[in-house]
Amino acid sequence: MIEVRPVKAFRDNYIWLIGNSENNRVAVVDPGEAVPVLERLYEQGLQPIAILVTHHHQDHVGGIAGLLENYTVPVYGPANEDIPAITKPLHEGDAVYLEGIGVRFSVLEVPGHTLGALAYNGAGAAFTGDTLFTAGCGRLFEGTPEQLHDSLEKIKKLPNSTMIYCAHEYTLSNLAFAKIVEPDNPAITYRLGVCDRLRKEDRPTVPATLGEEKLTNPFLRTDQHSVRAAASRHAGYALENAVEVLATIRKWKDSF
Ligand code: ZN
Ligand code: FE
Repeated sequence: MIEVRPVKAFRDNYIWLIGNSENNRVAVVDPGEAVPVLERLYEQGLQPIAILVTHHHQDHVGGIAGLLENYTVPVYGPANEDIPAITKPLHEGDAVYLEGIGVRFSVLEVPGHTLGALAYNGAGAAFTGDTLFTAGCGRLFEGTPEQLHDSLEKIKKLPNSTMIYCAHEYTLSNLAFAKIVEPDNPAITYRLGVCDRLRKEDRPTVPATLGEEKLTNPFLRTDQHSVRAAASRHAGYALENAVEVLATIRKWKDSF
């Protein structure tokens, strides 16, 4: 049974520690900073055995060097991005077997936010970095709307029970936007209430199930009539397909 715990970094990043209940080994996902991770490892007597990286942005890789000064571990990450610390470059379909934890992840290439971005899927969880956020998605810094659409479709094919671990606490602002797009979607209104309470108690709103995302995340709902209609109104003309809808709501959110 894997256990996943967040280490907070910067203003709203989550660095995920993947462990199990049997031993003290952990894998560290997207260490943008070293110090908060090192503190947690010391405090709880945890032994890192691997670093997993989703993409090259500094808030996801900035802490790798500091961790490697203290621990010698393999660094898994996208083969298609320039991240010098990576020792295990990964492509679509590769497997990451973390023997010390007893978990196996399969690698999804999910270009859009960045061109080489990866997601890791295994043990009923998916680590989606800045590609799929809870109730939102990452900005299109490098890829095209079509690439991001295909990447989100790839994630959508995972089982609905998959726990989505993204790298930022953005759920409330994402849901505020989702409600503008779909004011009559009761699942969004309900989730806003739940997440609002969690944040008031300073608790994370991540992870969420993929099933919940499919009901509330407009970027996974570009095939829905309500989302297409709202996007078409925003664009001022009738959008023809899900890629156009995605491109439109992504731009709309950028200026929101
Ligand atoms: Zn990023
Ligand atoms: Fe980020």
